Amino acid sequence: MESIASRLQDVLARIDVASGASGRDRVRLLAVSKGQPAAAIRAAFAAGQRAFAENYVQEALAKMDELRDLAIEWHFIGPIQSNKTKPIAERFAWVHSIERFNVAERLSKARPDHLPALDVCLQTNISGEASKSGVAPGELAMLAKEVAALPRLRLRGLMTIPAPAKGVEAQHEPFRRLAALLRDLNRAGASLDTLSMGMSDDFAAAIAEGATIVRVGTAIFGKRRKKLERRELQIQ
Ligand SMILES: *Cc1c(COP(=O)(O)O)cnc(C)c1O
Repeated sequence: MESIASRLQDVLARIDVASGASGRDRVRLLAVSKGQPAAAIRAAFAAGQRAFAENYVQEALAKMDELRDLAIEWHFIGPIQSNKTKPIAERFAWVHSIERFNVAERLSKARPDHLPALDVCLQTNISGEASKSGVAPGELAMLAKEVAALPRLRLRGLMTIPAPAKGVEAQHEPFRRLAALLRDLNRAGASLDTLSMGMSDDFAAAIAEGATIVRVGTAIFGKRRKKLERRELQIQ
């Protein structure tokens, strides 16, 4: 089996190709480690990766405790329950999955004073599927204005998970629309610099459309477990 280090190098090389030789400065790789044990994160860190993303608070906290000795930048990318805003505000550097003002407000209130403002993105429901989470494009401007005014958050941009596309060409369209929404917000006075879009199967298309952060799990770590128990995170 290929090692995490070699798959990571392969993903970085593909990011370089997609963004042009000098483009890596513009595109950050976020290693999505949900469903992976702490040992897998340690292996990616040893290979040079510094930013990791998690979807479930309990699972993330267990791994953070286990990996205290590493200078990891943690990103939260999962659905946020209001009763979990405190640990998220205390332990993460970024949150990509803001979709409601009251959750943003709770995060701002809970962000400790000794930490810099929490960097956040608004998750946008670009494909308009009823089942997908995210803010409808039509409600984005209002939410962006409200979130930007919160003192302990720094609104950085937009995030999306598009519906699965048939074929590479079809992958581009939702990313192009998210980039256009970001431009609209900036024209209306916002100063957003982040498009968090693209996963294992479509990050090249996302980069072609202007992604500044790609969130890649399986292509780095291989298949993941559904959800790890605290006990399971520590073995291996
Ligand atoms: C799981 C997940 C990813 C990574 O998906 P892969 O297909 O494994 O690369 C990216 N973003 C979000 C929000 C996720 O939940």
